[in-house]
Amino acid sequence: MTQLRRNTLADELDDPAPALGTLERGEPVQVFAVRPGTPARPRIARAEGIYMWDTTGRRYVDAGSGPVACNIGYGNRRVLDALQVQAEAAAFANPGTFESAANRRFAERLAEAAGPGYERVFVVSGGSEANEAAMKLARQMAVARGEASRWKVVSRQPSYHGGTLGALSVTGDPAAHDLFGPMMRPMPKVPAPITYRIPEGFDQQSWAEHCADVLERTVLDEGPETVLAFIQEPVGGLATGALVPHAAYMRRVREICDRYGVLLIHDEVMSGGGRTGVFLSHEHWPDCRPDLVVVAKGAGAGYFPLGVVLAPRDRVAEVAGGGGFMHGHTAFGNPLACAVGLAVLDETLDGGLIANAASQGARLRARLDALAERSPIVGDVRGKGLLMAIELVADKDTKTPFAPSVMAPAVLASAAIEQGLILYQRRTNAGRDGDWVMVAPPLIVTDAETDLIADGIEIGGSRDGASPRKSLNLWAID
Ligand code: PLP
Repeated sequence: MTQLRRNTLADELDDPAPALGTLERGEPVQVFAVRPGTPARPRIARAEGIYMWDTTGRRYVDAGSGPVACNIGYGNRRVLDALQVQAEAAAFANPGTFESAANRRFAERLAEAAGPGYERVFVVSGGSEANEAAMKLARQMAVARGEASRWKVVSRQPSYHGGTLGALSVTGDPAAHDLFGPMMRPMPKVPAPITYRIPEGFDQQSWAEHCADVLERTVLDEGPETVLAFIQEPVGGLATGALVPHAAYMRRVREICDRYGVLLIHDEVMSGGGRTGVFLSHEHWPDCRPDLVVVAKGAGAGYFPLGVVLAPRDRVAEVAGGGGFMHGHTAFGNPLACAVGLAVLDETLDGGLIANAASQGARLRARLDALAERSPIVGDVRGKGLLMAIELVADKDTKTPFAPSVMAPAVLASAAIEQGLILYQRRTNAGRDGDWVMVAPPLIVTDAETDLIADGIEIGGSRDGASPRKSLNLWAID
């Protein structure tokens, strides 16, 4: 391997007061999202394992894996070496001209991990792109079987499938649709099988059954011959705060899709790749195997932009036979992305990280459940493995959410970061569906690190204020 050459960037990484050049503090990213006058974010210097350091030397524990993406932690040697080896060999090779060993090996190992029915792997640059590729592949799979009338993709409300216009059209976020709706083709939405703030007159099981009934009715109302697919997050991401649907719902979803010839797409952008304690989340519901699976964050683990669509061999062969998949981007099948994907997968599988996600998830869950017992504002803890969320409420008895203006998740996350703990929060539907923060550390966490995270979240301490750790203020957030 060649000697690393230092450059101006490398020099700046350790500089606590770097020159800003022509940019103002907070540029270029913050100026798009943050009102003038908001303090600039700390500047990253380095990251290793579950820890990150800013340029002032301050250490943070990343309990959110970034945006629930950095599944194997930071600074992983195997991945960094793979990136360097591939970059030196060929950083890019047009897939229209060359195949690459990285692409072949990654696809092979991923298909093997996914199991029968997911033999074909299409590689793109991220989650939104992968969902769009899955929807376009589904359309071509239907057309290849003579079902050109099918084009509608039903999805849940709330849900998140990406920010590009095609992915946004199936995303269940009314606030986003208010703004971008006129630019999109609206797609039918059905209620998500939520398990916490269940509508009056239902319990968890009957609400699950009701949601499945609505899906069936929607397919019938739309005209089954027009419905191409149903897309769902099997274990929810940020939009639902790690929603885990009732088994009855998942079983019915598969039955309904089979009954009307609707393809089932699982968006495992956030949940896939081991985070929920199994490689793909449908393993939690063996009678709800999807036709297509999308994985992204867990595939690249933050080391490179990467998203994949997993599809069955025979259906892809039909598309290929009918003229080929009409889709592609400059970066599809990118060798660097694939080299990273392979190394992340090797690390996940060889390192026992999936089993670790299950056992550390159980450990963390026990601590968060105990916290919920004592905290007047932790209304619910949910999730699977290390994909978890805590829902914050103003009144636990009535499950009344905080007023959106309270910005409870932001308050909690900024209190956490004050004491060096990073939680992931962002709002769906401007907070109108409730408030939660994700607790989703990298899959490499040890017992001691899981305890460190739980301690950090618990900081509010006891109601009488006896705890030495107080700054999260879980007892009186406003
Ligand atoms: N789908 C889910 C479930 C997600 O959580 C996300 C991102 O958070 C996406 C899709 C979009 O992925 P990306 O941000 O990589 O485009």
